[in-house]
Amino acid sequence: MAEGHDTDLEYTIDDLDVLEGFDVTVSADGRRYTVSGKCPQCGGKTDYTVSRGTPEIAKGLGWRRDAPALPQVGLSEVPVNCCCGYPHAHRPDNEYFPGCGARWKVRLP
Ligand SMILES: [Zn+2]
Ligand SMILES: [Zn+2]
Repeated sequence: MAEGHDTDLEYTIDDLDVLEGFDVTVSADGRRYTVSGKCPQCGGKTDYTVSRGTPEIAKGLGWRRDAPALPQVGLSEVPVNCCCGYPHAHRPDNEYFPGCGARWKVRLP
């Protein structure tokens, strides 16, 4: 278990505001952002990739209809979900993101 990762934490939906301290990298083709950092809720390392206004690509990844809308080009903040990969207790089977349920926003550079 990774240091600082609270694996005893139960899955909890937690909507947080804009947080600082995350690395945002843009893919070479400029179509994806990857946000890397530590989840504010469970402390797990999370790498979250969002497409830039390209829902067609996301569909192929099994994006659900009720999944959060993809960020569009021109947004200054991207929504990020915890993707620590740990199966936190009570995580719903239909939860798309492999994390603890925390979601927050990160400002694009
Ligand atoms: Zn988390
Ligand atoms: Zn976690």
